[in-house]
Amino acid sequence: MPVAETPDFLGAVWEPAAPTNFKPSARPSADQIIDRIVIHDIEGLALSAVRWFQNPKAQVSSHYVIDAQTGMVYQQVKERDVAWHAGDRITNTRSVGIEHGGYAYRPGFFSITQYEASAKLVRDISQRHNIPRDREHIIGHFEVPDTANPGKFGGRGGHTDPGPYWDWDYFMTLVRNDAKLPPNVSGIALLLPSSLLSYPGSPFVLRPGETVTATFRGANVLRNIPESAFTLTNHGDDMWLADRKDKQETERRKAGTVFLGTASGQDSRLAAADWISPRYVGSSADGDIAPGDSGKFAMSLRAPGDFLGEITEMFRLINVPPAPRQPVPFGDMITLSVRIDPWDITVPIPPALPSGWTPKTMPGGARVYWRKSVPGAKKGERTTPAPQPVVWETNLPLPGDWDVYVRFPGGSGRTAAASYAVNASVLQKTTLDQRTRGSGWRKVGRYRFETGGTVPASAGNTFASTLPGKPPVQATVILEADAVTPGVLAAGDLRFVGPFPAAGGSGTPK
Ligand SMILES: [Zn+2]
Repeated sequence: MPVAETPDFLGAVWEPAAPTNFKPSARPSADQIIDRIVIHDIEGLALSAVRWFQNPKAQVSSHYVIDAQTGMVYQQVKERDVAWHAGDRITNTRSVGIEHGGYAYRPGFFSITQYEASAKLVRDISQRHNIPRDREHIIGHFEVPDTANPGKFGGRGGHTDPGPYWDWDYFMTLVRNDAKLPPNVSGIALLLPSSLLSYPGSPFVLRPGETVTATFRGANVLRNIPESAFTLTNHGDDMWLADRKDKQETERRKAGTVFLGTASGQDSRLAAADWISPRYVGSSADGDIAPGDSGKFAMSLRAPGDFLGEITEMFRLINVPPAPRQPVPFGDMITLSVRIDPWDITVPIPPALPSGWTPKTMPGGARVYWRKSVPGAKKGERTTPAPQPVVWETNLPLPGDWDVYVRFPGGSGRTAAASYAVNASVLQKTTLDQRTRGSGWRKVGRYRFETGGTVPASAGNTFASTLPGKPPVQATVILEADAVTPGVLAAGDLRFVGPFPAAGGSGTPK
């Protein structure tokens, strides 16, 4: 019975090759070092190679095979043993071979998942055997000498794999770069604006349009620890250059610059104003970061103004290669989950007391104004003179459709008709019956508040002149006392909730 083996690479699945297909050895040794890694493709699927190397007739093998779709790594020959993959005795003796599911002449077959798995494996092998991470030591099968034909390459038979569609620049950037989050961080970073410190749970809540600084939550820490930036450690071989802030290049920065960006390379819905672009989040706050050093990457997020619900976005460091190559995301992934709830703004009763109103604090602490009937007025008559209306004003953070609520004091003796005029994009009046018992919020209605534009001022609207010249989004609600029959009218706090995606929309972000 063969001795049970374990893979040399943590995460590899051990699928031993047939003993007839490799040469047992004891590498590395004084006269047999390992200083090459040879990259191949199979001209087929990974599992077909795994099975072939287990066939005693094959007479070939590879230390590793990597699946194109899943990035699954199979190990078939121990690194101490010599696998027969390069078609060259000297190269086989000094190398570790890695096969990749795929085809040398089919574009688009090698996947990002596969490249990343392969680069992680190469980083591990090179670390353990002290192999320099460069193209002299990490080679393709097509670069193996053909000893029977001096001056020719590809080993015996002149192999050309992994072929022209293997992206060496991308692969070597992955091989030479890695970034790690602090060990006590789960990789799940959460948002913790100071205004929301009272929210202990997850997901974290932002309001539409709100901007916050991203922070960590330690996996083994119950309380959230605010941080001003993400700390990442350079576990690679290349210096992470800080942004040189070349205003001529917003997307294409200096080669070697490392940014925090979206892992997908696509624009993010959480882009804040201080982002370099919708996909480049921020740059090192600690200057250039050498291999082995750690540095902070500051990050702000802004909740989109036209979406309610949950957004999960993944971020990663991005290496900017020389043009025209594409940016390369690498290293640990930072996942942010944010729930976006509507703003919920309570506007207390105006502090200034309009004539004809008396303040009172209700049980439970709610402050209200009372307008008592004018002495001498008969039931059913309009009060004379009409008291001034109560006016609530506030600036809303965003335009859009907002729900307006009013909080009544409980009890009896209320007037039936309390007329609220909401000065939105269209002036609307709603009359509520205030006799309902209880002191909960009651909805006045949903109104569209827009930025800029003039607010309609109809004749007799005493509030029109109270609007400032250029409000961000000015919301005004008036309790029109003069529309009320004599008796007692109570007015409580007002509340604005929103903005909600436009009618007909489902909240799907643009
Ligand atoms: Zn090959």
